[in-house]
Amino acid sequence: QSKNEGRNRFSFFEARMNRSLQLKRMVEEDLRNAIARDELVLHYQPQVSVDGGTIVGVEALVRWPHPVHGMVPPSEFISIAEERGLIVPLSDWVLRRACLEAKRWEGLRLAVNISPVQFRHKDFVGDVIRIVEETGFDPTRLELELTEGVVVEDADAAENALMELRAHGIGLALDDFGIGYSSLIYLRRFAFDKIKIDRSFLEYMETTGESAILVHSVVHLGRALGLRVCAEGVETAEQHRFLQAIGCHELQGFLFSKGVPAEEIDRLLELDAPFAANLAA
Ligand code: C2E
Ligand code: MG
Ligand code: MG
Ligand code: MG
Repeated sequence: QSKNEGRNRFSFFEARMNRSLQLKRMVEEDLRNAIARDELVLHYQPQVSVDGGTIVGVEALVRWPHPVHGMVPPSEFISIAEERGLIVPLSDWVLRRACLEAKRWEGLRLAVNISPVQFRHKDFVGDVIRIVEETGFDPTRLELELTEGVVVEDADAAENALMELRAHGIGLALDDFGIGYSSLIYLRRFAFDKIKIDRSFLEYMETTGESAILVHSVVHLGRALGLRVCAEGVETAEQHRFLQAIGCHELQGFLFSKGVPAEEIDRLLELDAPFAANLAA
């Protein structure tokens, strides 16, 4: 996934890496070790219902606490992992850790991101099912977040893989919806349960009326196809109000919470209405 979530943040890490192949090899080696030594961490971002703001799920987001570079976001190392053959061990680690940690949040959905490179790996479906079984996680609580990149290359193979996952009760969400050109075709063909509207739509909603119209259309389309619709990147009460008015089901964004360590999710779940103060009146 080439979209760079960290694009507003100047990255020494990335800038230096682009200049030096040697540095890239060092990063690769560091990452390989970090995976092997269990040094990566997962943060979880709440997904909340549009009415009332109860937490209905969490999205696992991987971070790399690096001794020199600090907390490195996934936008800076997922692509290296993909290029250097580390995406399968990394993804297996993420899924296993997420299933083990999220097990205690009964009734909550667990969303896990899947890289297109990982998806195309021949053992992908088998690996997912094996990890879910080994960890004892309820597959009907698991939701894989896939981007269009996943289905673009070999649609037939993708269709089979998705059907097999669904047969095991695993949910499928189309992530970053709206930034690819052929989204509508994929929605018709593949058995997604949910679409996640890319946060770039919300970013410009305040300034241009067109974005609001687009968001509105996407929510309608999703609902018409019987899908759940989640908006990503919700940062203001105004956005919440608008999304509620047009019938979006779920919201995710800094208005509620950024990705936080598992213990912070424990704490939020103890509260009656954790986000009451953040909701639009
Ligand atoms: P994504 O799946 O679309 O995840 C949402 C990203 O948007 C997260 O960035 C999250 O922190 C950020 N975000 C959420 N709400 C807001 C908001 O209100 N405002 C703003 N400005 N940002 C918000 P993060 O954690 O840096 O992840 C970036 C991307 O990296 C993810 O995009 C996903 O594509 C990928 N990623 C994260 N974890 C994993 C993983 O375990 N495996 C794989 N393959 N990819 C991952
Ligand atoms: Mg995602
Ligand atoms: Mg997304
Ligand atoms: Mg994204």
